[in-house]
Amino acid sequence: MPAYDAAAMVQHASPLPSIDALLRAPRTEPLLIRFGRTAVTAALREVLSARRAAGDFGVLGDATFAAIVDQAAGRLAAQSAMSQRPVFNMTGTVLHTNLGRSTLPPEAAEAAAEALRNATSLEFDLATGRRGERDDHVSSLLCELSGAEAATVVNNNAAAVMLALNTLALGKQVLVSRGELIEIGGSFRVPDIIGRSGAALREVGTTNRTHARDYADAIIPETTAAVLRVHQANYAIVGFTAMVSTETLGRIAHQAGIPLIEDLGSGSLVDLERWGLPHEATPRQSLHAGADIVTFSGDKLMGGPQAGLIVGNKIAITAINRNPLKRALRLDKARLAALETVLRIYADPDRLAERLPALRLLTRPQADIQATAERIGSVMAQHWPDRDIATVACRSQIGSGALPVDLLPSFAVTIGGAGLENLAKLLRALPRPVIGRIARRRLILDCRCLEASDEAGFIAQLT
Ligand SMILES: *Cc1c(COP(=O)(O)O)cnc(C)c1O
Repeated sequence: MPAYDAAAMVQHASPLPSIDALLRAPRTEPLLIRFGRTAVTAALREVLSARRAAGDFGVLGDATFAAIVDQAAGRLAAQSAMSQRPVFNMTGTVLHTNLGRSTLPPEAAEAAAEALRNATSLEFDLATGRRGERDDHVSSLLCELSGAEAATVVNNNAAAVMLALNTLALGKQVLVSRGELIEIGGSFRVPDIIGRSGAALREVGTTNRTHARDYADAIIPETTAAVLRVHQANYAIVGFTAMVSTETLGRIAHQAGIPLIEDLGSGSLVDLERWGLPHEATPRQSLHAGADIVTFSGDKLMGGPQAGLIVGNKIAITAINRNPLKRALRLDKARLAALETVLRIYADPDRLAERLPALRLLTRPQADIQATAERIGSVMAQHWPDRDIATVACRSQIGSGALPVDLLPSFAVTIGGAGLENLAKLLRALPRPVIGRIARRRLILDCRCLEASDEAGFIAQLT
């Protein structure tokens, strides 16, 4: 044995307890019950080796022993926290794609949870006892609400556009105005989606002006399979502009014997002007004007779960449903349950703004938002006496590419002073993270989406 073994000396000098002793301690028992032996052992090892690495051997007493277990408990709690969790959306963008777009009415969320917990009649016809169609739970509701002959649903609107083109224009040309070759949030680019659908893009017109003759001149018999109209979602072209109405476009397409597909993007099932919101095209209007297929998102202005809704004529929808890709893009039982619930809420339009969170938030009166801002602003001012805290009128956005130039009068709590990035980080680290935005050297917390029922929870975690 060497006369001097530094490693052995250190080990002997270390008063750290053994893993076994730690695992047997009464203080560890609740951790074992909650997280299991494997995870607790790993966490204790991590704490011990971190302590050794820090050269912090301490003096082994009850306090050190307890501190080691508590540190392990902290690690375990942090590791087991859900990665996706509820946040307070105070960005001022109501349908925020990165924050999950529309929130569902409680009854829709419950219907989804119920479907997940149980066997359901997903593809089972209870009347005949035979196999059924999963989309039948929502397609007749969608037809009633849009005036369509037929309807089907897929994973999201990008999938809806892709599937419609793949079904109706595979290996052929699709005409799209150059003013509509848009990108939405980076991952949806109209030219790319058309390419991947197996159709070939034929651009017509110019960025700012496209005329009826541009479409008519571009149609080649046997080669052109469809005309696609894409709603200008997240931008507006203003000034010297021209675009062809859906009526005219439908007429041109039908004269050539090809369908008009309209991607409404946000598309609302009801006329939002009724609630004082800016006009947004409805599937009913598009179909009435001559579109054969209309696609739109479930979780934008419609206020439902993520879904791509496809409504239109029976022949086209039947062909879409027979496309093998449909199987790859179909909805699961939970979202179908949520979607069915939301569509049923539409049957009672008078109470829509009350029951549908997306619409309730979009139509929330500024005075109501101001009252929230003032209440939480005064609590924050008490809590952070050294900070410059104010409440100001601001404007919220609808979001998700809907009506990009229209802003809704709102109210915010704003915080000034140094270290705003750090403060924003602190708020994001709360148990229910608070997401605001920094502009003009202030942290802005738009209170539109902080409803009265959320206020207590918001305040409780600040104080
Ligand atoms: C949002 C949007 C899409 C994509 O819809 P997802 O539901 O996000 O897939 C496609 N087209 C337009 C015009 C849109 O606004």
